[in-house]
Amino acid sequence: MSTNEFLSSLFSLEGRTALVTGGTRGIGQKIALALAKAGADLILIQRNLDNQDTATEARQLGRKATVVQCDLTDKVQIGAIVQKITGSEDAGGMGLVVDILVNCGGIQRRAPAEIFTDENWSEVLQVNLNAVWTLSRDCGAHMLKTRGVGSTNPRGKIINIASLLSYQGGLTVPAYAAAKHGVLGLIKALSNEWSPKGINVNGISPGYIATEMNTALIADPVRSRQIMERIPIGRWGAPEDFEGAVVFLASRASDYVCGETLVVDGGWMARC
Ligand code: NDP
Repeated sequence: MSTNEFLSSLFSLEGRTALVTGGTRGIGQKIALALAKAGADLILIQRNLDNQDTATEARQLGRKATVVQCDLTDKVQIGAIVQKITGSEDAGGMGLVVDILVNCGGIQRRAPAEIFTDENWSEVLQVNLNAVWTLSRDCGAHMLKTRGVGSTNPRGKIINIASLLSYQGGLTVPAYAAAKHGVLGLIKALSNEWSPKGINVNGISPGYIATEMNTALIADPVRSRQIMERIPIGRWGAPEDFEGAVVFLASRASDYVCGETLVVDGGWMARC
Protein backbone atom coordinates (compact mmCIF):
# COMPACT_ATOMS: atom_id res chain seq x y z
CA MET A 1 0.00 0.00 0.00
CA SER A 2 1.40 3.41 -0.95
CA THR A 3 1.62 6.29 1.52
CA ASN A 4 -1.24 8.03 -0.26
CA GLU A 5 -3.43 4.91 -0.14
CA PHE A 6 -2.67 4.46 3.57
CA LEU A 7 -3.51 8.09 4.41
CA SER A 8 -6.60 8.01 2.25
CA SER A 9 -7.88 4.79 3.91
CA LEU A 10 -7.57 6.49 7.30
CA PHE A 11 -8.69 10.06 6.64
CA SER A 12 -10.70 10.24 3.41
CA LEU A 13 -14.25 11.53 3.87
CA GLU A 14 -15.30 10.84 0.30
CA GLY A 15 -18.94 9.80 0.06
CA ARG A 16 -19.70 11.30 3.48
CA THR A 17 -21.89 14.31 4.25
CA ALA A 18 -21.16 16.70 7.12
CA LEU A 19 -23.68 19.03 8.72
CA VAL A 20 -21.88 22.03 10.24
CA THR A 21 -23.14 24.98 12.30
CA GLY A 22 -21.11 28.17 12.62
CA GLY A 23 -19.51 27.61 9.22
CA THR A 24 -19.82 31.19 7.97
CA ARG A 25 -16.57 32.38 9.56
CA GLY A 26 -13.90 31.76 12.19
CA ILE A 27 -13.16 28.23 13.37
CA GLY A 28 -16.34 26.77 11.85
CA GLN A 29 -15.49 27.99 8.36
CA LYS A 30 -12.04 26.36 8.40
CA ILE A 31 -13.54 23.20 9.91
CA ALA A 32 -16.19 22.97 7.18
CA LEU A 33 -13.65 23.54 4.42
CA ALA A 34 -11.22 21.01 5.94
CA LEU A 35 -14.00 18.39 5.85
CA ALA A 36 -14.71 19.36 2.23
CA LYS A 37 -11.01 19.12 1.31
CA ALA A 38 -10.98 15.62 2.86
CA GLY A 39 -13.86 14.69 0.54
CA ALA A 40 -17.10 15.41 2.43
CA ASP A 41 -20.14 17.14 1.01
CA LEU A 42 -21.47 19.90 3.26
CA ILE A 43 -24.79 20.96 4.74
CA LEU A 44 -24.30 24.37 6.33
CA ILE A 45 -26.79 25.61 8.90
CA GLN A 46 -26.69 29.42 8.83
CA ARG A 47 -28.94 32.18 10.10
CA ASN A 48 -27.91 34.40 7.18
CA LEU A 49 -28.34 32.94 3.70
CA ASP A 50 -26.62 35.95 2.08
CA ASN A 51 -23.24 34.63 3.20
CA GLN A 52 -22.47 31.91 0.64
CA ASP A 53 -18.65 32.12 0.96
CA THR A 54 -18.11 28.69 2.54
CA ALA A 55 -20.57 26.92 0.25
CA THR A 56 -19.03 28.54 -2.82
CA GLU A 57 -15.52 27.52 -1.77
CA ALA A 58 -16.66 23.94 -1.09
CA ARG A 59 -18.28 23.75 -4.55
CA GLN A 60 -15.02 24.99 -6.09
CA LEU A 61 -13.41 21.95 -4.43
CA GLY A 62 -15.90 19.75 -6.27
CA ARG A 63 -18.18 19.08 -3.30
CA LYS A 64 -21.91 19.47 -2.92
CA ALA A 65 -22.80 22.24 -0.48
CA THR A 66 -26.33 22.92 0.74
CA VAL A 67 -27.06 25.99 2.84
CA VAL A 68 -30.05 25.71 5.19
CA GLN A 69 -31.43 28.68 7.08
CA CYS A 70 -31.78 28.27 10.85
CA ASP A 71 -31.18 30.66 13.73
CA LEU A 72 -29.70 28.75 16.66
CA THR A 73 -31.64 30.98 19.06
CA ASP A 74 -34.94 29.80 17.56
CA LYS A 75 -36.03 26.65 19.41
CA VAL A 76 -38.87 25.92 17.00
CA GLN A 77 -36.65 26.19 13.91
CA ILE A 78 -33.95 23.98 15.43
CA GLY A 79 -36.49 21.41 16.56
CA ALA A 80 -37.60 20.91 12.94
CA ILE A 81 -34.35 21.35 11.01
CA VAL A 82 -32.95 17.81 11.03
CA GLN A 83 -36.32 16.41 9.93
CA LYS A 84 -36.38 18.98 7.12
CA ILE A 85 -32.85 18.02 6.01
CA THR A 86 -33.17 14.23 6.31
CA GLY A 87 -36.91 13.72 5.73
CA SER A 88 -38.05 12.18 2.46
CA GLU A 89 -38.72 14.48 -0.46
CA ASP A 90 -42.27 13.08 -0.66
CA ALA A 91 -42.84 14.39 2.87
CA GLY A 92 -41.39 17.81 2.02
CA GLY A 93 -37.87 17.04 3.27
CA MET A 94 -34.56 17.35 1.45
CA GLY A 95 -33.81 13.61 1.50
CA LEU A 96 -30.20 14.07 2.65
CA VAL A 97 -28.19 11.65 4.80
CA VAL A 98 -26.01 13.13 7.56
CA ASP A 99 -22.87 11.13 8.43
CA ILE A 100 -20.98 13.77 10.41
CA LEU A 101 -22.30 16.56 12.66
CA VAL A 102 -20.12 19.43 13.85
CA ASN A 103 -21.74 21.82 16.31
CA CYS A 104 -19.47 24.87 16.09
CA GLY A 105 -21.85 27.86 16.21
CA GLY A 106 -21.35 29.84 19.40
CA ILE A 107 -21.69 33.24 21.05
CA GLN A 108 -20.05 35.02 23.94
CA ARG A 109 -21.60 37.60 26.31
CA ARG A 110 -19.44 39.27 28.98
CA ALA A 111 -20.49 41.05 32.18
CA PRO A 112 -19.71 40.72 35.89
CA ALA A 113 -21.89 37.97 37.38
CA GLU A 114 -23.80 40.35 39.67
CA ILE A 115 -25.18 42.30 36.70
CA PHE A 116 -25.28 39.47 34.14
CA THR A 117 -28.82 39.57 32.73
CA ASP A 118 -31.25 36.66 32.43
CA GLU A 119 -31.62 37.58 28.76
CA ASN A 120 -27.91 37.09 28.10
CA TRP A 121 -27.90 33.91 30.18
CA SER A 122 -30.77 32.41 28.15
CA GLU A 123 -29.29 33.41 24.80
CA VAL A 124 -25.85 31.96 25.57
CA LEU A 125 -27.33 28.74 26.97
CA GLN A 126 -29.64 28.42 23.97
CA VAL A 127 -26.94 28.80 21.28
CA ASN A 128 -24.01 27.12 23.07
CA LEU A 129 -25.80 24.22 24.78
CA ASN A 130 -29.51 23.77 23.95
CA ALA A 131 -28.94 23.95 20.18
CA VAL A 132 -26.01 21.54 20.53
CA TRP A 133 -28.27 19.14 22.42
CA THR A 134 -31.16 19.32 19.95
CA LEU A 135 -28.97 18.88 16.87
CA SER A 136 -26.97 16.08 18.53
CA ARG A 137 -30.15 14.26 19.55
CA ASP A 138 -31.87 14.60 16.19
CA CYS A 139 -28.79 13.83 14.06
CA GLY A 140 -27.95 10.96 16.42
CA ALA A 141 -31.45 9.51 16.00
CA HIS A 142 -31.07 9.84 12.23
CA MET A 143 -27.63 8.18 12.30
CA LEU A 144 -28.99 5.29 14.39
CA LYS A 145 -31.39 4.56 11.54
CA THR A 146 -28.75 4.77 8.81
CA ARG A 147 -26.04 2.68 10.51
CA GLY A 148 -25.68 0.78 13.77
CA VAL A 149 -24.59 -2.51 15.26
CA GLY A 150 -23.44 -4.92 12.58
CA SER A 151 -23.86 -2.31 9.87
CA THR A 152 -21.29 -2.12 7.11
CA ASN A 153 -21.78 1.64 6.93
CA PRO A 154 -18.96 3.68 8.45
CA ARG A 155 -19.61 4.97 11.94
CA GLY A 156 -21.52 8.22 12.46
CA LYS A 157 -19.45 11.04 13.92
CA ILE A 158 -20.65 13.84 16.20
CA ILE A 159 -18.12 16.53 17.09
CA ASN A 160 -19.17 19.24 19.51
CA ILE A 161 -16.96 22.30 19.96
CA ALA A 162 -16.28 22.88 23.66
CA SER A 163 -13.75 25.37 25.14
CA LEU A 164 -11.06 25.89 27.76
CA LEU A 165 -14.07 27.15 29.72
CA SER A 166 -15.39 23.59 29.72
CA TYR A 167 -12.74 23.07 32.42
CA GLN A 168 -12.34 26.51 34.02
CA GLY A 169 -14.71 29.24 35.20
CA GLY A 170 -13.16 32.26 33.49
CA LEU A 171 -14.07 35.80 34.51
CA THR A 172 -17.30 37.62 33.56
CA VAL A 173 -18.50 34.73 31.40
CA PRO A 174 -20.78 32.72 33.73
CA ALA A 175 -23.26 31.62 31.05
CA TYR A 176 -20.56 30.68 28.57
CA ALA A 177 -18.65 28.63 31.18
CA ALA A 178 -21.86 26.89 32.31
CA ALA A 179 -22.85 26.09 28.73
CA LYS A 180 -19.41 24.81 27.75
CA HIS A 181 -19.16 22.64 30.88
CA GLY A 182 -22.53 21.26 29.78
CA VAL A 183 -21.18 20.45 26.31
CA LEU A 184 -18.47 18.31 27.90
CA GLY A 185 -21.03 16.38 29.97
CA LEU A 186 -23.24 15.93 26.93
CA ILE A 187 -20.35 14.50 24.88
CA LYS A 188 -19.71 11.86 27.55
CA ALA A 189 -23.39 11.05 28.12
CA LEU A 190 -24.17 10.63 24.42
CA SER A 191 -20.98 8.65 23.85
CA ASN A 192 -21.97 6.17 26.56
CA GLU A 193 -25.28 5.52 24.82
CA TRP A 194 -24.26 5.64 21.20
CA SER A 195 -20.71 4.30 20.89
CA PRO A 196 -22.06 0.71 21.04
CA LYS A 197 -24.57 1.63 18.33
CA GLY A 198 -22.22 2.92 15.66
CA ILE A 199 -21.80 6.60 16.54
CA ASN A 200 -18.69 8.28 17.96
CA VAL A 201 -19.38 11.42 20.00
CA ASN A 202 -16.32 13.54 20.69
CA GLY A 203 -15.34 17.17 21.14
CA ILE A 204 -12.67 19.74 20.44
CA SER A 205 -11.74 22.40 23.01
CA PRO A 206 -10.15 25.48 21.43
CA GLY A 207 -7.82 27.70 23.44
CA TYR A 208 -7.39 31.39 22.59
CA ILE A 209 -8.14 31.69 18.88
CA ALA A 210 -7.96 34.89 16.84
CA THR A 211 -11.55 35.18 15.58
CA GLU A 212 -14.32 37.76 15.78
CA MET A 213 -15.36 36.25 19.12
CA ASN A 214 -12.17 37.70 20.61
CA THR A 215 -12.22 41.08 18.84
CA ALA A 216 -12.19 43.04 22.11
CA LEU A 217 -9.30 41.04 23.61
CA ILE A 218 -7.23 41.26 20.43
CA ALA A 219 -7.85 45.03 20.24
CA ASP A 220 -6.35 45.46 23.73
CA PRO A 221 -2.59 45.25 23.05
CA VAL A 222 -1.62 44.68 26.70
CA ARG A 223 -4.13 41.90 27.29
CA SER A 224 -3.49 40.36 23.89
CA ARG A 225 0.27 40.19 24.55
CA GLN A 226 -0.29 38.78 28.07
CA ILE A 227 -2.36 35.98 26.58
CA MET A 228 0.18 35.28 23.85
CA GLU A 229 3.03 35.10 26.36
CA ARG A 230 1.01 32.66 28.49
CA ILE A 231 0.57 30.27 25.54
CA PRO A 232 3.56 27.86 25.44
CA ILE A 233 3.58 27.72 21.64
CA GLY A 234 3.98 31.52 21.62
CA ARG A 235 1.09 32.69 19.47
CA TRP A 236 -2.69 32.96 19.41
CA GLY A 237 -4.42 30.05 17.70
CA ALA A 238 -5.77 30.39 14.16
CA PRO A 239 -8.91 28.76 12.71
CA GLU A 240 -6.64 26.66 10.49
CA ASP A 241 -5.25 24.97 13.62
CA PHE A 242 -8.49 22.93 13.79
CA GLU A 243 -8.26 21.32 10.36
CA GLY A 244 -6.30 18.27 11.52
CA ALA A 245 -8.32 17.68 14.69
CA VAL A 246 -11.68 17.79 12.93
CA VAL A 247 -10.64 15.55 10.00
CA PHE A 248 -9.23 13.05 12.51
CA LEU A 249 -12.41 12.99 14.59
CA ALA A 250 -14.64 12.81 11.50
CA SER A 251 -12.70 10.00 9.85
CA ARG A 252 -12.14 6.27 10.28
CA ALA A 253 -8.83 7.12 11.98
CA SER A 254 -10.75 7.91 15.19
CA ASP A 255 -13.20 4.97 15.16
CA TYR A 256 -11.95 3.80 18.60
CA VAL A 257 -12.00 7.30 20.16
CA CYS A 258 -15.23 7.76 22.12
CA GLY A 259 -16.43 10.45 24.57
CA GLU A 260 -13.11 12.28 24.31
CA THR A 261 -12.39 15.98 23.89
CA LEU A 262 -9.25 17.05 22.08
CA VAL A 263 -7.76 20.23 23.55
CA VAL A 264 -6.26 22.43 20.80
CA ASP A 265 -4.79 25.34 22.73
CA GLY A 266 -1.05 25.66 22.00
CA GLY A 267 -0.31 24.15 25.40
CA TRP A 268 -2.33 26.59 27.58
CA MET A 269 -4.03 23.91 29.70
CA ALA A 270 -0.85 21.92 30.31
CA ARG A 271 1.03 24.95 31.64
CA CYS A 272 1.11 25.27 35.39
P1 NDP B 1 -17.04 33.37 15.65
O1 NDP B 1 -17.67 34.44 16.46
O2 NDP B 1 -15.92 33.72 14.71
O3 NDP B 1 -18.15 32.61 14.77
C1 NDP B 1 -19.33 32.20 15.39
C2 NDP B 1 -20.15 31.40 14.41
O4 NDP B 1 -21.37 31.02 15.07
C3 NDP B 1 -20.54 32.18 13.17
O5 NDP B 1 -20.58 31.31 12.06
C4 NDP B 1 -21.95 32.66 13.52
O6 NDP B 1 -22.77 32.92 12.41
C5 NDP B 1 -22.48 31.44 14.27
N1 NDP B 1 -23.63 31.82 15.09
C6 NDP B 1 -23.63 32.58 16.21
N2 NDP B 1 -24.89 32.75 16.64
C7 NDP B 1 -25.69 32.08 15.76
C8 NDP B 1 -27.09 31.90 15.67
N3 NDP B 1 -27.94 32.46 16.55
N4 NDP B 1 -27.58 31.15 14.65
C9 NDP B 1 -26.74 30.60 13.72
N5 NDP B 1 -25.40 30.74 13.76
C10 NDP B 1 -24.89 31.48 14.78
O7 NDP B 1 -16.59 32.27 16.70
P2 NDP B 1 -15.36 31.25 16.73
O8 NDP B 1 -15.09 30.75 15.37
O9 NDP B 1 -14.29 31.87 17.51
O10 NDP B 1 -15.97 30.09 17.64
C11 NDP B 1 -16.43 28.86 17.11
C12 NDP B 1 -16.70 27.92 18.26
O11 NDP B 1 -15.49 27.74 19.02
C13 NDP B 1 -17.75 28.42 19.26
O12 NDP B 1 -18.53 27.35 19.72
C14 NDP B 1 -16.91 28.99 20.38
O13 NDP B 1 -17.61 28.99 21.60
C15 NDP B 1 -15.74 28.03 20.38
N6 NDP B 1 -14.56 28.55 21.02
C16 NDP B 1 -13.90 29.64 20.48
C17 NDP B 1 -12.76 30.13 21.10
C18 NDP B 1 -11.99 31.29 20.57
O14 NDP B 1 -11.00 31.69 21.22
N7 NDP B 1 -12.34 31.88 19.44
C19 NDP B 1 -12.24 29.53 22.35
C20 NDP B 1 -13.01 28.40 22.81
C21 NDP B 1 -14.12 27.94 22.15
P3 NDP B 1 -22.98 34.44 11.82
O15 NDP B 1 -21.89 34.63 10.80
O16 NDP B 1 -24.34 34.41 11.24
O17 NDP B 1 -22.86 35.38 12.97
